[in-house]
Amino acid sequence: MKSPDFDYVKPTRLAQALSLLAEHEGEVQILAGGQSLLAMMNLRMSWPKLLVDITGLSELRTIALQGPSLRIGALVTHAQLLSSALVSTHVPLLFQSASHVAHLAIRNVGTIGGSLALADPAAEYPAVALCLNATLVLQGLHGERRVSAQNFFQGLYQTDLRAGELITAIEFASVQANEVQVFRELARRRGDYALVGMAMALRVKQGRIDGARLAFLAVGDQPVLALKTMQHLQGQVLRELALPACLAVLRSELIPKADLQAQSTTKAHWAGVLLSRALGAIGEGVA
Ligand SMILES: Cc1cc2nc3c(=O)[nH]c(=O)nc-3n(C[C@H](O)[C@H](O)[C@H](O)COP(=O)(O)OP(=O)(O)OC[C@H]3O[C@@H](n4cnc5c(N)ncnc54)[C@H](O)[C@@H]3O)c2cc1C
Repeated sequence: MKSPDFDYVKPTRLAQALSLLAEHEGEVQILAGGQSLLAMMNLRMSWPKLLVDITGLSELRTIALQGPSLRIGALVTHAQLLSSALVSTHVPLLFQSASHVAHLAIRNVGTIGGSLALADPAAEYPAVALCLNATLVLQGLHGERRVSAQNFFQGLYQTDLRAGELITAIEFASVQANEVQVFRELARRRGDYALVGMAMALRVKQGRIDGARLAFLAVGDQPVLALKTMQHLQGQVLRELALPACLAVLRSELIPKADLQAQSTTKAHWAGVLLSRALGAIGEGVA
C-alpha cells in the first residue's frame, strides 16, 4: 500500500525546521531515517500533511565528548554508533545494543533520535537510555529543554516530546573505571525486534556492588527499571552473589505483558535467563 499524499520540505537550518513544526502543528511529522515512519504512513497509521525531513541538519550528526558526558546528535545512525570508538569506549552499553538493532540496510539510515522519539517498547535504545538515565535534549521554537530518560518515556509510543519540539541530542554519562555495562537480548534471529532484552550497569567498589541499574525491554508498554532487583544487588559481594535469590526478587517485581511473541510467564523466565547470563558474564570477566 502507498502512503496518502503529503508535502515535503527539507530545511538546512534548525531554526527553519522549528518554524515549520510550529507553523504546521498537528499536521506535520519529522522525517529522520524514515525506517519506521514511512512504513506507518503506508499502513495508514500516520497521515501527516507535511513531512519535515531533518536529514539536512548536519549539526545533528555529531558525536562529541562534553566534559563527563558523550553527546550524540539525534541524526546519528545505528551504523555510525557501531563504528564509533567514542561510543564503544564511553558508552559500551549503547555500543553493544546497536548491534542488535535491525539489519545493515536499516542501520545505515535509521537514527538514534528516531528510535527514542518513536519509543517502541521492544526497541533497544530506550532501555539503554533508561538504564543509564541519559538526558534527552529537546529543542522547540522557544528554547531548549533537557529531560531525563526516566521522565521521557511515558507509555506505549508515548514520550514527553511536545508539539513543535524535536530531539537534537542525547547525552550519556561516560562509563566509570569501576563500572561494567552489559546488554543482552533474546530474539528469534539477530536483528529482529527483541523477545526480551536487558540493559545493565553495575559499579563495583572493593568487590562489592556500589550502584546497580537494570532496565528491561519488550516486557510492557515502555522500558522498565527493575527497582527491587537493583536494590537487592546494592552492597552485595559480587563473587558471592546468590543467583537464585536475585532471580526470585526479579520474578517478584517483573510481570511482563504478554504479546504476540510469548506469554507473560515465558517472558518472565527469559528475563531471568538474561539476568543470569549477564551476571555470569561479569563474574567471568567477559562482559
Ligand atoms: C525491518 C525493520 C526492523 C527493525 N528492527 C529494529 C530493532 O530490532 N530494534 C529497533 O530498535 N528498531 C528496529 N527498527 C526500527 C529502526 O531502528 C528505525 O530506524 C527507528 O525506530 C526509527 O528511526 P528513524 O530514524 O528511521 O525514524 P523515522 O522513521 O524517520 O521516525 C520515527 C518517528 O520518530 C519521529 N522522529 C524522528 N526523528 C526525530 C527527532 N530527532 N525528534 C523528534 N521526533 C523524531 C518521527 O516524526 C516519527 O514519528 C526496525 C525497522 C525495520 C524497518
